[in-house]
Amino acid sequence: MEIGVGNVSSTMKTSSMGAETERTSGWPAEHMPGNPVGPLMPVAQAQERLLGLVASRVTAEELVPLDLARGRVLSRPVIARWALPGCDNSEMDGFAVRADDCATASPTTPARLPVAGDARAGAVIGALARGTVVAIATGAAVPLGADAVVPIEDTRQDGQGGVLLLVAPRPGQHVRHAGQDLESGKVMLPQGRRLRPVDIAACAAVGGSSVWVRRRPRVAVLSGGDELVPVGAVPAPHQVTDSNAAMLAAAVSEAGGEVIALGIVGDSPDLLRERLDGASGCDLLITSGGVSVGRYDYVRQVVGELGSIEAWRVAMRPGKPLLIGRVGDMPMLGLPGNPVSAAVTFELFGRPALLALQGASQVQRRHVALRAGEELDTPADLETYLRVRLTDASDGIPVATLSGGQRSSMLRSLTDAEALLIVPVGMSRAPAGTLLTGLELG
Ligand code: AMP
Ligand code: MG
Repeated sequence: MEIGVGNVSSTMKTSSMGAETERTSGWPAEHMPGNPVGPLMPVAQAQERLLGLVASRVTAEELVPLDLARGRVLSRPVIARWALPGCDNSEMDGFAVRADDCATASPTTPARLPVAGDARAGAVIGALARGTVVAIATGAAVPLGADAVVPIEDTRQDGQGGVLLLVAPRPGQHVRHAGQDLESGKVMLPQGRRLRPVDIAACAAVGGSSVWVRRRPRVAVLSGGDELVPVGAVPAPHQVTDSNAAMLAAAVSEAGGEVIALGIVGDSPDLLRERLDGASGCDLLITSGGVSVGRYDYVRQVVGELGSIEAWRVAMRPGKPLLIGRVGDMPMLGLPGNPVSAAVTFELFGRPALLALQGASQVQRRHVALRAGEELDTPADLETYLRVRLTDASDGIPVATLSGGQRSSMLRSLTDAEALLIVPVGMSRAPAGTLLTGLELG
């Protein structure tokens, strides 16, 4: 394998605006492009680099109807237009009472009270005369004067149009007070929230029929490799289907982005440069393939010419050749071509970048505790993401076992995986039972 192809100087040259200027990007010499044998950048540092590139490029806001808002990120908080609930209402089917009318009720000495009315859900608020009860449905307005609801299970009919209350209610019991969930004018959902179905419910409940969200980032997706054929074509044995483009289209869309498909480009710097024109106006460029140290890996060279390299080669497996840079001003992410490397690096870098471009308050997936279910043997210098299946354990920490072969070309074991188990840098042999963390795959 060829190493040191392309620019081997320790500074980048860029020909933007005609004149050649030197660009060092302010990063440590050992991480400079053209230094493939130097130390690798830690994952967290590379993630910060990328987030730094996108931080100032949050997309504009737009108003969308609620039925199109799932997965979008709020650019403004959702403020309650009215209180939730709007009035005191019943939490149970039963009888609205004045608690002191039946303070001595018990199963042996029930309180007998006449039923003076029926409060149905949706009916306007009535009133309760002293010494009577009103039958009430869940969600119905509690009549004025009533201060508790006795559930139907704690009553019996007396056969003469009255009711026997078998327990003495606590004042306030089973009454949902006006505004107890949220008062009018208060924040229901904060800016930066990525809307889940329950959040849509919350917007709707307090009067939001449309919401201000960030525009979907436009993401140019480009696959690089002479061997690639588009999805749908039958590959000759020496060819490979461009599965990364299909994966990235789905993953970008899941992360709230809109894909601009730039197709497949052969391993040629000229063709690559030309094709990148199609990315102009996009918020992010994601390429896959051609970022490693091979003789025909031109992505880094071309990105260096058209913009800058911010990071190259990250201390992780899979995904080591990852490239972070800019084309013009547009942030770019060069994913390695191996399908598992592309998927895992999208998950760790692409998804957070897309969420950050939308101003989301939470961009990383939460790590969960996982226990190694077998002895693990991983490189000590790389943060390793192992494809694992999970089984529940009595201590609540799922046990992770490898879902299959771990080569970065093996897509099957990724589809069989429920999580990525993370073995940190510095750990090479982890016995079964080792407590680690991981990312559950969505
Ligand atoms: P590269 O990163 O270009 O060195 O490619 C590494 C491996 O990933 C090679 O086996 C490629 O054939 C494969 N590969 C590259 N791009 C894609 C793609 N878009 N879809 C599927 N496999 C790919
Ligand atoms: Mg290639």
